[in-house]
Amino acid sequence: MRRIGFSSHTPSVANRLLDTGLIDLMMFSINPAYDLEQGDELGIGSVSERAALFRRCETMGVGISVMKPFHGGKLLNARTSPFRVAMTRYQCLQYALDRPGVLTVVPGVRGLEDLTALLGFAAAPAEEKDYSVIGQFTPAAAMGNCVYCNHCQPCPAGIDVGLVNKYYDLAVAGDKMAANHYQKLAVKADACIGCGHCDRRCPFHTAQSARMKEIAAYFHAAK
Ligand code: SF4
Ligand code: SF4
Repeated sequence: MRRIGFSSHTPSVANRLLDTGLIDLMMFSINPAYDLEQGDELGIGSVSERAALFRRCETMGVGISVMKPFHGGKLLNARTSPFRVAMTRYQCLQYALDRPGVLTVVPGVRGLEDLTALLGFAAAPAEEKDYSVIGQFTPAAAMGNCVYCNHCQPCPAGIDVGLVNKYYDLAVAGDKMAANHYQKLAVKADACIGCGHCDRRCPFHTAQSARMKEIAAYFHAAK
């Protein structure tokens, strides 16, 4: 079987190609700067336009291969980062991997040292991959959206808050497989005891305990 993929930096162009129904793979530039409208000329599209594109890819079964995960290295240095705070490679990689639809990330490698550092990602502890620092840079207009970072863990009810939110967002976008995955979770949103731990921990002000009620009601009604 043969597959068709394309590469783009532009959500409107990508959406037109997805409209054909012929696409299996999309290569797209993704990093926190681009997604928060703080990038360069390759960071195209609004916060919501880009997030909707990634959800659409997952819903359509189009895998995303990520380019520019470090914003050309700018995010790794406080002097060059648009946020004026350095992020680590692992934070950027985890951020990209957590976007819906993303299958793989393809960072630039200048030599063996880069490659060795990047390969350490697989064994690195979760704290080194926690990218919730971007909550400090997120514009007010984009606050309130769960970015699936799981910085709010641990949940005393055992809910995987990031995953539940991702399945919910995808299900609302029409992804039947995501809805099915949600129904198979051992612990779902209706297990929430409303303790408020996630509300206090979430750097993105998602009002998560209220959102858990909304998610539980949505999936209950969809049964
Ligand atoms: S609720 Fe907040 S901290 Fe928890 S996964 Fe979502 S964005 Fe991250
Ligand atoms: S409010 Fe609900 S989802 Fe949030 S930490 Fe408490 S039990 Fe978990």
